[in-house]
Amino acid sequence: MEIVFTFYVEILKDIEMKLDNVNLMNRRQIFWLDTHPDELLYSDIARIKDQMDYENDYALIEDYFGTKPYKAFYALPSNINFLLLGLPPGNVYTSDYIIDKHTLFPFYAPFLRGDIAKNLKEDMKSGNKISIPSYNAALLDTHVEPLTYFRYCPGCVKQDRSSYGEAYWHRVHQLINVVVCPDHKIFLKVSTVEMGVIGQNKIKSLEQELKTNSVAALVPKVIDKKNIMDQVYLSLANQAKWLLENGSQLPFYDDEEILRRCHILLTKKGYINLDGELQISQLLKDFNNYYSPPLQKKLQCELEGSAGNWLGKILYPNLVKHPTFFLLVINFLGSDIMTFFNDSQRHYPFEPSPWPCLNPCCPDYKKKTIFSYKKGFCRRTSVSFGSFKCLFCGFTYCRNVKSYEFVMGQADDIQIDKIKTFGKLWDSQVIKFWGDPNLNLGQIVQKLGFPEQELLKQSSRLGLPRYPKGEIIIKKFEDSSIKTIIVDNKHLSIAVCRKLWLKICTENERASLSSLKKAPVVYSLLKARDWDWLKKDLTRRLIGKINPEIYAKWEELDVLLAAKAKQLGKNRSREILIKQLYQLNEKEFGSKIKLSSILSNIRYLPLTEIALEELLLAPEEIIKSD
Ligand SMILES: [Zn+2]
Ligand SMILES: [Zn+2]
Repeated sequence: MEIVFTFYVEILKDIEMKLDNVNLMNRRQIFWLDTHPDELLYSDIARIKDQMDYENDYALIEDYFGTKPYKAFYALPSNINFLLLGLPPGNVYTSDYIIDKHTLFPFYAPFLRGDIAKNLKEDMKSGNKISIPSYNAALLDTHVEPLTYFRYCPGCVKQDRSSYGEAYWHRVHQLINVVVCPDHKIFLKVSTVEMGVIGQNKIKSLEQELKTNSVAALVPKVIDKKNIMDQVYLSLANQAKWLLENGSQLPFYDDEEILRRCHILLTKKGYINLDGELQISQLLKDFNNYYSPPLQKKLQCELEGSAGNWLGKILYPNLVKHPTFFLLVINFLGSDIMTFFNDSQRHYPFEPSPWPCLNPCCPDYKKKTIFSYKKGFCRRTSVSFGSFKCLFCGFTYCRNVKSYEFVMGQADDIQIDKIKTFGKLWDSQVIKFWGDPNLNLGQIVQKLGFPEQELLKQSSRLGLPRYPKGEIIIKKFEDSSIKTIIVDNKHLSIAVCRKLWLKICTENERASLSSLKKAPVVYSLLKARDWDWLKKDLTRRLIGKINPEIYAKWEELDVLLAAKAKQLGKNRSREILIKQLYQLNEKEFGSKIKLSSILSNIRYLPLTEIALEELLLAPEEIIKSD
């Protein structure tokens, strides 16, 4: 114990003394003992009292703080500037240092509304007492029963006596829901010294308290690391300790920022969907499973208790909230207070845009060309996700909010959680490589960029033969209008292709042309090598599907457009071809025929449809032309 200044206090007669009376200030010199690490200022004052001859606590508080005693003195003492003016010149203490290192302010501050935290600190520096709103906000949350007696850790007593020659009241032991010592992992002992009471002779140091206690007072009870309750206790104690040590240095005191961070955690866990709705009933259910009712009772966080549904309430701004509630919620959401505050890089929830196409076959692979995404919510896993579609190749993948991390400030946006659709380009590449006799499966896997298992699954979806190539299989097609489909590789003869095509068409009588085209190899082989035959077959088929009376009305236009289509060049988009065709005839049509009417009635224009089909580039050709 080092005594830096040994003048006995000069008891001031005039307790109405004004702070700006410098001469008077200079005359006031107080007996002072240096503070110990994590010691409550109250504890230092109590140790000073042990060395002094004070009649009662009122006189002591008035001498040291120039104020009357009040309930929150032990936790949030006020008028600290007054105290400092009595210290010897050249001492290292500042009011910020005392507040940050020796009061409970850093524990409460981060969870208070910004202006309240600021006022509270001002009151602690130079107020006669802390004002009611600050006091209420910090200590008097009506739902949390304040502690009654000071607590101590037998391990700390032993250690402090050896390091500093005496035991003292630690800050971290005097917090609600801290029942174990974070350093020694043993249960705290409850003393007989009352916290909120100052009177004739109530202020008491830990050493004074221990003098009157039995031997049992220092027998440690170690926590059981396998016990779930004890694990929660230790975690809460560690987080409280971190808050005391760091709460004042956090770059903000702002409950809105706290709520924003809570919302991100809740979103990641699926309790807030992407429309911002809180799934409160699921949240309550899971919370009750995580903290058992007996544990909730011990931690004063019963959802059914006097606090009511506090869980719903703390997630809204402007209500009084005790830090212990946040610690419990953050813990429950699988995080801890250190991560919660250090995690400043996270964006909500997939920012920043745009996002890359992740199809290795796409010319836009890994280029950020996707500018919007669709929101979704998975009921099975209760996680929100976004689905990202490349407008060029159709490849669509999902990211869930849980896996979308930021590493060193960079979004991890080249990961895929689930592929929704591979898209026509990827499909066409699979078909192309599948039919290439010079490629083995390993090479195809490398070219397509997905694991072998995924590739085999997709080739089966496309109705491709199982590896090794050559086997004919019968496969149900995804499109419900196609019942069965038979497909083989590119080396089928034209005669076999024709037979297969006729079989597909007979079995799927009602299917549209675009559905029939999904018999990939057969259709594309016939189109490339046997177009005249396929064209005749399609013409017969498509005209046959239309009611003759209706076709009579459209026939003239159909013949005209089909003839004009010969003037157009090849293109990858059917819509563009139709537009170009319309433009060729725009003058003649005038206001009689609109483009939209052609687009929506294309099924009554079979000859035109086939003429355009001839001009449409196959997916393989698109890649070649790129
Ligand atoms: Zn300890
Ligand atoms: Zn793409």
